[in-house]
Amino acid sequence: MESEEFKLYPEEEPLKMRRLSPDHPDFLENVEEQKSREARHLFGLDDLNIISQFEETMSHYPEGELTEQYGHFIDETLKHSMQELVILSTDKENQFASVGFETFFYESLDNSELAEQLKKIFSDEFIDAENGEIFITAQEILPRFMEIPLPLYRKMLERHVECYSESEKELQEKLPEWELAFADRLNEQVNKWNLALTKEEIFKRLEKVEVMAGDYLTYSDFTEADGDYHPASCTAVVPTGEIYMIKESGQSRDDYREYVYTHEMLHAVSGLTVMGGENSEGELAETQIRRHGLHAEGRFKWLNEAFTEFLALKLLGKEDSNSYKDERRELQLMIDKGVPEELFAAAYFENLEPGKTPRLKDLIKAVNQKCGIRYLQNLDKEFS
Ligand SMILES: [Zn+2]
Repeated sequence: MESEEFKLYPEEEPLKMRRLSPDHPDFLENVEEQKSREARHLFGLDDLNIISQFEETMSHYPEGELTEQYGHFIDETLKHSMQELVILSTDKENQFASVGFETFFYESLDNSELAEQLKKIFSDEFIDAENGEIFITAQEILPRFMEIPLPLYRKMLERHVECYSESEKELQEKLPEWELAFADRLNEQVNKWNLALTKEEIFKRLEKVEVMAGDYLTYSDFTEADGDYHPASCTAVVPTGEIYMIKESGQSRDDYREYVYTHEMLHAVSGLTVMGGENSEGELAETQIRRHGLHAEGRFKWLNEAFTEFLALKLLGKEDSNSYKDERRELQLMIDKGVPEELFAAAYFENLEPGKTPRLKDLIKAVNQKCGIRYLQNLDKEFS
């Protein structure tokens, strides 16, 4: 047997788990803490920051071996970033990869100083249209991309960050208007379903959410997710929308972003089941989310997305979308077989207080009755 003194780590004390109110101050505090750690995944930003730090360090030393070494680090950082972009752009799994790459390039072409320099390098590849616009494709850029001088590439990265910031600013300006419209539409719908979710409660849940723009190079199509919502930090990502005008044609960029916003905000106001782990002193050592909307402990993720998208389309009066088509088909089938929409909605929006029976049980029971025993559980296997 192992003796005490050879134990490297003390055994972890088992925590006693108990259900907490989703309004419990310790849980809310943990969410705020997570939120402050949520980083913006903006392509190039980390590299530009590292380069600034290198330059700051260099400025303290006279020119010599050391500054040369830092100059080398800067070049390597930029070269690595270029290679990373090429890898992203040639991802065969992603049909929008080349569009993202072209968008990055066109951001710089929109800036006269950068356009001038790029035109010199790609003079043979550019096609000047009659209206003075230039045209170049990813296939034409790629073979010569690595020839772009590093200082110019750095300016392109800075330009990308600048474009993102503009897009983020635009998004933040739109949010108050979208939020009011969202709350109105949702309130009207939950009243139709006779749910106990008040407009005040909708606003209260929305208040905690931070919405940020998603860079098309790191979010959006490059990770297959149009938007994103993180319940543990109450943060939502809405794409910059650069690529979506191509993807969902016939829709303006703002309409597209509001649609993604609506989907993500439904996740944000959907209910939570929260557990807290107590140590032997009776102190809360951790809190965790057990259920978010209909997504319960790793189960029914597909159903959660299906209902979210179903409701987003309903609120916006949209016929259809490209998101979660198979999942929504299964949801519609259950509704058609007689499972009331209200039951999905009641379980979806329920913030489960300690001692209460989850409405999810009512839903599962109704599905079992109308569609057959273990119907949801079997679908779960199909979608996982
Ligand atoms: Zn979703």
